[in-house]
Amino acid sequence: MIEYREKLQRLISGGTYRTLPHFERDGKYLVVDGERLLNLCSNDYLGLQQIPDLIEEYREAPEYSPLMSSASSRLLTGNDPSYDDLEQYLSSAYQVPSALVWTSGYDANSGIIPTLVDGETLFLADRQIHASMVEGLRLSGCRFSRFDHNDLSRLRNLLEKNEGEYRHIWVLVESVYSMDGDEAPLKAIVALKRDFPSMCLYVDEAHAVGVRGGGLGICREKGLVSEVDVLIGTLGKALGSVGAFSLQSESLRELLVSQARPLIYTTALPPIMVGWTLFLLRKVCEMEDRRQHLQEMIRRLGDRIGRMLESQIISLVIPGEERVVEAAEDFRRQGLYVRPIRKPTIPTGTERLRLSLTSAMNAEEIDHIAEVMKRWM
Ligand code: PMP
Repeated sequence: MIEYREKLQRLISGGTYRTLPHFERDGKYLVVDGERLLNLCSNDYLGLQQIPDLIEEYREAPEYSPLMSSASSRLLTGNDPSYDDLEQYLSSAYQVPSALVWTSGYDANSGIIPTLVDGETLFLADRQIHASMVEGLRLSGCRFSRFDHNDLSRLRNLLEKNEGEYRHIWVLVESVYSMDGDEAPLKAIVALKRDFPSMCLYVDEAHAVGVRGGGLGICREKGLVSEVDVLIGTLGKALGSVGAFSLQSESLRELLVSQARPLIYTTALPPIMVGWTLFLLRKVCEMEDRRQHLQEMIRRLGDRIGRMLESQIISLVIPGEERVVEAAEDFRRQGLYVRPIRKPTIPTGTERLRLSLTSAMNAEEIDHIAEVMKRWM
């Protein structure tokens, strides 16, 4: 087979070479080279992986489907009734016209954004949106501008400059940003719609569903769902399953089914997983105790390190490649598993550790995390 040594060597010398980590899982811990480390990289924010007997319970539940493969696209014979049940549950829980389930959040974002292009369309995207949305922008072939992260005055300027020039101006944001864990000022963003009639709003809630708004995210918590034109939620993080959903108008759903390539040309998620998602989603909506515990842990860590934390995702900026690697090793010596984040994921000089808390963590663990963090602050 053909070798790619030279190209690989260029990545190594440019500092953008990546490798897959290896470990075993043990509840909220990872076992790495024989060491048991508290996992601070998981998106299992509600600790669903720690609940015993859940799979046995699912087998007896009305949502259960034994089908381990869809064996075709949803547009062929992969569209099992479990999809209809999940989409109906989502559209009625959010009180929106329609829901559509996707194989992953990456597929949803990269498939929906190009489909939104309608005549003259402009996209205005926060500089920190996820790679899957950037992929959608590229595939759309449309003009797009990025505004500095959460910079509303810059966003307003861009809207002023372009209003009247385009049929639709889509603003793309996340409700909780995946890298820094800070929130978008969603109420203020929604308010811009009053001044700019061509503005449409796209909100990715990947890191807020399950955790906020009774499990349905921040738009729901703030009563903004009806103001959002496309809302994305992922199912593989706090919701403990796999895939994603989008909420939108009926006509946009029809258009997506006709045109979104990652929906049309991929094998549908297996019904056993779609049923599992609905089974878990119903439970997650009832898990107020876990959400409250997680919020308490976030507050506790914030108090201990003297920082106002906006979510379960915490970024600890430690500029310099060597230093951030050294910090990750220090965390590991203290029994905590984190991965250093470097270029090309983020620009040079903003190297960081990205930590995420889950409701499976206790006060003692939070205090320990705080002590280790303080050494690097
Ligand atoms: N959107 C955001 C904001 C994300 O952080 C992620 C995953 N990290 C995705 C979308 C992609 O979701 P998935 O993992 O389901 O492809």
